[in-house]
Amino acid sequence: ELHNALVELRGNIRVHCRVRPLLPFDHVQSSTSGSRPMSSEEVVSAISDDTVMVNCIKTGMPEQSKMFEFERVHGPEDSQEAVFQEVKPLLTSLMDGYNVCIMAYGQTGSGKTHTMMGSQLLEEHSGPQQEAQQGIIPQAAAELFRLILEKPAESLTVEVSVMEVHNNEVLDLLARDAQGNGADQRRDVITTSCGTSQVTSLTHEPVRNAFEVMQIISSVLKLRAHCPTLVHTDSSRSHLIVTLTISSKSPNALALARKLQSAKKDMQRSTKKVWWSPRCSRANPAAHHSSDDHLFASTPSSPCRSPSHSPCPSPRPSISQAPFRTKLQLVDLAGSECVGMSGVSGAALWEVSCINRSLSALSDVLGALAEQRPHVPYRNSKLTHLLQDAIGGDAKLLVMLCVSPTQRFITESLQSLGFGMRAR
Ligand code: ADP
Ligand code: MG
Repeated sequence: ELHNALVELRGNIRVHCRVRPLLPFDHVQSSTSGSRPMSSEEVVSAISDDTVMVNCIKTGMPEQSKMFEFERVHGPEDSQEAVFQEVKPLLTSLMDGYNVCIMAYGQTGSGKTHTMMGSQLLEEHSGPQQEAQQGIIPQAAAELFRLILEKPAESLTVEVSVMEVHNNEVLDLLARDAQGNGADQRRDVITTSCGTSQVTSLTHEPVRNAFEVMQIISSVLKLRAHCPTLVHTDSSRSHLIVTLTISSKSPNALALARKLQSAKKDMQRSTKKVWWSPRCSRANPAAHHSSDDHLFASTPSSPCRSPSHSPCPSPRPSISQAPFRTKLQLVDLAGSECVGMSGVSGAALWEVSCINRSLSALSDVLGALAEQRPHVPYRNSKLTHLLQDAIGGDAKLLVMLCVSPTQRFITESLQSLGFGMRAR
């Protein structure tokens, strides 16, 4: 029973790993690799559904091999669709009222953007081949709208926002002035009176289908790729965050009944959790009450369902007027290869140290959550502060570790696998 309780407690963070295939550019030897002729040899492999093996013999490291276990491991032959199949249940959780976050972690070139977006996103024409290359974001958007269509009575609406965190600054990539021109993109992250985080004046674009979601994202990415002076040149130096906010403005009797039901179930679960976890009792103060009045305050993802772009409602919103909102955050993190990198100076050094600090702040937050420490240091960086509602409390987080198979990047791959182990 204790084991089950612990498994349940750990249930909010999942770590998956994807080892990408060997690619033509892996065979291009760097100028320093003359003395390391084996650098394109595959040393990282998915040996089963849940285990990654790093073969250290070939690298001359003292240990023979290291094994890393995760909830799910994908190998080089796994398709985009196969990867999404393992992510899909999170979309159902989203529709049940939980905030969900899916983030890709790994060094530059390990397949983060391929996994999150897909490789053909910037192409003009899309056909079946491009569709097969779609990453998690387009597939999740399609699945979300499919689930929404199944529930016409709930009149759910979806809005998209796109942010970038660069040099510990939050940028609203959809910001436009009244004439539709680019406007000041810098935004603040604040903590609301009910303890949730909020990005101020963030642009939310209403969208009616997955195609519109992808149109908005690809136009932003194209703009960024074509105007390097607008922001900065290298997308691997920043974190990209796509948020889909789902709201129900007129919860009907049916939807309400279902939400009350799931809230009740959740309350029972969180009351049980209180025995084991100081974190849950703090994150979910309403869990001790049994009156139905409190159910909305104890619904899944956050104690207070405040949309990120409107003021916080009263602590006990009346059921009829409280809009029901959940968000799906999809994150393509900056390349993790700089963690511990030395030998750079000036602006590049500042950039690297910002990436280092935000990724190690993320590691600290995930470590604190995994160990159920009472204090989770969300506010040590803009990245963790703005993701607070999506990675803590009852929110569901999936970390997708992306690793290269080759010996050349073994240090970076071991670092990424270590990051994943810490989050578990
Ligand atoms: P990152 O975003 O981590 O820097 P990318 O997603 O851009 O890495 O991947 C680097 C290159 O490898 C791209 O050309 C991408 O198309 C390719 N690639 C990555 N993962 C895969 C995969 N699973 N299958 C085929 N090609 C891949
Ligand atoms: Mg990338």
